This record gives sequence, C-alpha cells and structure tokens, in this order.
Amino acid sequence: MIPGSFSYHRPSSVKEAVGLLASLGDDGRALAGGHSLIPMMKLRLATPANLVDLAGITELKGIRADGSDVVIGAMTTQHEVIGSDLLAAKVPILRETSLLIADPQVRYVGTLGGNVANGDPGNDMPAVMMCLGATYHVMGKAGDRRVAARDFYQGAYFTSLESGDVLTAVRIPVPAAGHGFAYEKLKRKIGDYATAAAAVVLTMSSGKVASCSIGLTNVAETPLWAEEAAKILTGSALDAATVKRAVAAAEAITAPASDARGPAQYRTKMAGVMLTRALARAKARAHG
Ligand SMILES: Cc1cc2nc3c(=O)[nH]c(=O)nc-3n(C[C@H](O)[C@H](O)[C@H](O)COP(=O)(O)OP(=O)(O)OC[C@H]3O[C@@H](n4cnc5c(N)ncnc54)[C@H](O)[C@@H]3O)c2cc1C
Repeated sequence: MIPGSFSYHRPSSVKEAVGLLASLGDDGRALAGGHSLIPMMKLRLATPANLVDLAGITELKGIRADGSDVVIGAMTTQHEVIGSDLLAAKVPILRETSLLIADPQVRYVGTLGGNVANGDPGNDMPAVMMCLGATYHVMGKAGDRRVAARDFYQGAYFTSLESGDVLTAVRIPVPAAGHGFAYEKLKRKIGDYATAAAAVVLTMSSGKVASCSIGLTNVAETPLWAEEAAKILTGSALDAATVKRAVAAAEAITAPASDARGPAQYRTKMAGVMLTRALARAKARAHG
C-alpha cells in the first residue's frame, strides 16, 4: 500500500524539532529511520499529516563516554552501534542485540532512538535498556527531562513521551568490568521479531552471583524487567534448582498475546527457555 499524503519538515536542531512537533500536536510525528513508522503508514495504521524528520539534526548523532556512563545519540543507527569500539568494550550486550535485529539493510537506517521510542513490545532494545538500567534523555516543550527505561513503557505503543517530545539520547551506566551478559532471542526466521527473548547482565564473585538484571522482550504489552527473578538468583551459584525457581518467577510476569508466533503458553515457556540459555551464557562470560 501507499501511505496517505503528508507534509515533510526537516528541522536542523532539536529546539526547532520540538517547536514544530509541539505546534503540530497530534497532526505531527517524528521520523527517525522510518523502518517502523513508514510500514505502519503504508498499512494506514498511522496517518500523520506531518512528518518531522530528525535526520538533519547532527546533535542527535554520536556515541560518547561520560564519566561512568555511555551516552548514545537517538539518531545513531543499529549499524553504528554494532561498529562502535567503545560499546564493544563497555556494553557488549548492545552489539549482540543489534546483530539480532532485522537484517543489515534495516540496521543501516533504523535508529536506536526509534527502536526505544517506538513502544512496540517486539522491539529488542527496550528490554535490554531496562536490563541495563538505562535512562532516556527527552526534550519537550517544558525543557529537558530524564526518564528511566524501567518507567518509560506504559502499554503497546504507549510510552511516557508526550506530544512535542523528542527523545535525544540514551544514557547507560557501564556495567562492572568482567560482567557477564547475553541476549537470547527465539525467532521464526532471520530478520523476524522475537517470539520471546531474554537479556541478562550479571556479575559473579567467588562463584556466586553478586548482581543480576533481567529484561524480557515481546511477552507482554510492554518490555519487562524481571526484578523478582533476578533477586532469586543473587547470592546463588546459578545451580539448576535456583535457576528453575527464577525462571518460574520470570514466566509468572509474562502475559503474551497468542498470535502468529504461537499460543500464549508456548511464548511464556519460550521466555523461560531464553532466560535459562542467557543465564548460562552470561555466567560463562563473567569473571569472578
Ligand atoms: C523487515 C523489518 C524487520 C524488523 N525486525 C526488527 C527486529 O527484529 N527487532 C526490532 O527491534 N526491530 C525490528 N524492526 C524495526 C526496526 O528496528 C526499526 O528501525 C525500529 O524499530 C524503529 O527505528 P526507526 O529509526 O526506524 O524509527 P521510526 O520508524 O522512524 O520511528 C518509530 C517511532 O518512534 C518515534 N520516534 C523515532 N525516533 C524518535 C525520537 N528520537 N524521539 C521521539 N520519537 C521518536 C516515531 O515518531 C515513530 O512513532 C524491523 C523492521 C523491519 C522493516
């Protein structure tokens, strides 16, 4: 299908973009890589009268270290995430996750900001950001604010972004050196969204879990942070019985839809399988 007609705007600063989006209200929509929004427009599931393209705003690009955090500009593409030496050294789960998103063609254009702002429970980065304890920088009519990824997602396609807001960057606290990590994703074929996926970041000390964080993708209306499951694992040696209890706790917070990816019960079980695999791989990668 062909999208409905729209007016195209190309601001050159965040301030200009926010001004435009604020004045357009519900008639305006930010455009990043367009690889979620344009397909929705072709299906007429989104019919914005105005697109505000963020591609000409250089301040939205780039990846930098900032003290004990890394800060990634919203218009950084998935391809640039994969190619970043800084991220490979400091937050390697981002490269692992990006490589499981879509295909190279989509990753050349699709942005990190678009992936986390979109609000589709099938997007992979939101659960990873919850797992990492990331914060989103948002510029709106009232100025700058920061929103924790764990507080950002409210429902399918509902986030704490308001009319006129531009997500400008993602701030990630660098996990401790020697941490273990893994993103395990079950998909029907290369380039597919997750049937279920699990992100794990943990640290080990003397063979026991010192800290652990878990995110789950596409098994509820929002990405999930599995806080209780992580608590169960902390202090354990990741023995089979404790992992089983933690997996049960993670499965208990899922509420997936039954759809072309399988019935709800199957997807919940697959979330558990992905988590079990991610925990084993994260443990094998961790030092300590
Ligand atoms: C064939 C195919 C397969 C795919 N497979 C996967 C997959 O496996 N996993 C996955 O995670 N994704 C997948 N995607 C989606 C892809 O990763 C998208 O690129 C991504 O979800 C959205 O990023 P974008 O830059 O394209 O954003 P857009 O499509 O431009 O925008 C998406 C939404 O976010 C809003 N938005 C974008 N940027 C901002 C911002 N800075 N501030 C405020 N609002 C903003 C837009 O207004 C829009 O509502 C797939 C896409 C395709 C076409």
